[in-house]
Parts: sequence; C-alpha cells; structure tokens
Amino acid sequence: MKRDYYEVLGVSRDASKAEIKKAYRRLALKYHPDKSSDPDAEEKFKEISEAYAVLSDDEKRRQYDRFGHAGIDGRYSYEDIFRGADFSDIFRDIGFDFGFNDLFERFFGGFGGGFRERKQRRGRDIVYAISITLEDAYFGRKREFFIERNERCPSCSGTGAADYSKVMPCSACNGSGQVRHTQRTPFGQFTQITVCPSCHGEGNIIQNPCRECSGTGVQRKRRKIKVTIPKGIEDGMHLRLAGEGEAGPNGAPPGDLYLEVHIEEHEKFTRVGRDLYTTKTISYPEAVLGSEVTVETLEGTETLTIPAGTQPGTVFVIKGKGMPDMHRKRGDLKVKVDIAVPKKLSSKERELIAQLAEEMRVPLKKSRWRR
Ligand SMILES: [Zn+2]
Ligand SMILES: [Zn+2]
Repeated sequence: MKRDYYEVLGVSRDASKAEIKKAYRRLALKYHPDKSSDPDAEEKFKEISEAYAVLSDDEKRRQYDRFGHAGIDGRYSYEDIFRGADFSDIFRDIGFDFGFNDLFERFFGGFGGGFRERKQRRGRDIVYAISITLEDAYFGRKREFFIERNERCPSCSGTGAADYSKVMPCSACNGSGQVRHTQRTPFGQFTQITVCPSCHGEGNIIQNPCRECSGTGVQRKRRKIKVTIPKGIEDGMHLRLAGEGEAGPNGAPPGDLYLEVHIEEHEKFTRVGRDLYTTKTISYPEAVLGSEVTVETLEGTETLTIPAGTQPGTVFVIKGKGMPDMHRKRGDLKVKVDIAVPKKLSSKERELIAQLAEEMRVPLKKSRWRR
C-alpha cells in the first residue's frame, strides 16, 4: 500500500508550495542515493520524489486531494507524474547532478525498458470496464477479472519468425525501414521520407514466419487479472495496472491495463461522497415511546437510540460508519426513519388501537375499520 504523499514529505495537508519544496529538499539531502548510508535510501528517494512531483503541481495536487492515489495512478503514467516537476534547482542545491530524464532513467527505467524506449515502442494500453460492489469498495477487497489481450508469442519470442537466422534485412530499404524519394524541381531538390512499403518499416523480411502466430509475433490470450480494489474508490475511477496491456512490437515492453471501475447499486445503501444513506423502518410504538433499534451497516450492525416522539423522515447520523476515503477518513451513516403502518392486525391489536383512537378522540367511522 502506498503511503500518503503528505505523510511521506512530513507536511500538513494545507502546506504551501514553499513548505513542500523545503521539506523535499531536506529529505532529498537525507536520502541522497549516492551519499546516504541508509540501505533503503534509494527506495525512500523514489518515494519522496514521487510525492514532491505530485504535490508541487497544482493540478496533480488537486487531483490527489480529491481522489488519493487512485486519482493520480489512474490518470497519469509514471512518466507523466514526473514530467513538468522542477527538480533541477533542488538537485543542484544538494550536489546531485541530475535532470528529470536522468532521474527517471536511473530510478524508474526498470518499470519497462526506460523512459525513451517506452515512449516509442511499448505495446498499446488497454481499457476494460469492470463492475464491483459497494462492499468491494468499502473493504478494499481482492477481485478477479477476465480480459483478452495480445501477448508476446512464446514460440518466436515476439519476433514473428520461425527461424531467426532466416530473417533478412529488407533489400528495398537496406534495413532502415524508411525509403527516401528525392525530387528535383525548378525550386530545388526535395526529399521525402516514407515508411518502406516492402517491410512496413520493420527493416526485416521474415522468410519463414512463425506458425504459432502467423508471423505477427503476438497471440490472443484470455487472462485472469487479480486486483486489490483501493478502499473508498469511487464510481468512474480508473485503476492502472502497469505492464498488463498489449505486448509491444518485436518483444518491446507491454502497455498498461486500465480498469474503469463501476460500482453497482446497493439495495440498502446509497452513497453520496463519503456518506452512506439508509432507511430504517420502525413501528408506531417505537416512534411514540422511544426505543433502541438495530441498524445494519456495511460491516455489521449498530444500535440506534430512537427518542420518544420521533417523527417519520427524521435522519439520525451514526458517525464514522460511512465509506472510507483514500485519506483514511470515514464518512457517516445517515439513517432515515420510516414508520411502518401494519396491514394485518390481530383482533387484540385492533381492539387496542380502537381504544387508543377513542382516547385520542380520533373520529373513526366504525364501518370502515370493523367489519
Ligand atoms: Zn510466433
Ligand atoms: Zn524495407
């Protein structure tokens, strides 16, 4: 589980930009991966750098404040989290001769072939819509889903060739994948570069295509994906699973999988932000005389005291029994009271209510209630 960014930097939620920068500078000096003796220095340096990248950017900070880690991970790729963050003067201050690309390649290149490589050649991202229950979001449960995706063909390692020794450089483009057309005109010479039509830009001609994948280098597979739903996730948010997307061309790293989360309607609870709403039906005597009733929550039951004279539609608040959010705060459970009017009565009950009506001087037409 990722730690809260504010906690990582040791600043309050309303810290100014200058305070955030100051905190990061102090920690970057402490966990300087080339100077610190802390064995976890590199991990900590990554953690504080990510927290700083998000909190120093107004838009990302807003997104994080609203949705927590899911708001960041679901919307930005790892590169995008760091892109735009200004590390340069801090790094200069602490004697760290690194820019953004260096930082990224040194620490985050392991996530899939390095920053530049990934940008150009990795496989496509895929998006799947998934449906979860309110309980899944409440407890942060593990769920499994099936997806279909193109995976690297194991038989040819994604090359598409049955026998790699028989892969020849394309003669039309000499293996460059590009062809140049030079035109002389009265205005001068123009050169146009296009993708080679013989090899489709691959630079190679496969003479003996892999049979398993018909030379495409990928195979369609149905896979079970396990995912832990972050507690408090909201309808419409995206979960990003790095490296679970489509296989990249020629064995390049895969893209990412995004799960678009839909939360099913619940029969008992309605969610409004962090709060949950439910209705509790009580009897007329309970409402009139007061009582203690049991109210269902998403994880058990609570006892609710009904004061004497409770009116229908009254809303009682049970603190802290609503949805969790991503900042480990909890909403409330709001219980609206409904009063049941019985349709069937025993003769004793009917007698007593008739007496009550008389006592209260409620004019009843006898033919209506007693046949
Ligand atoms: Zn193959
Ligand atoms: Zn070619």
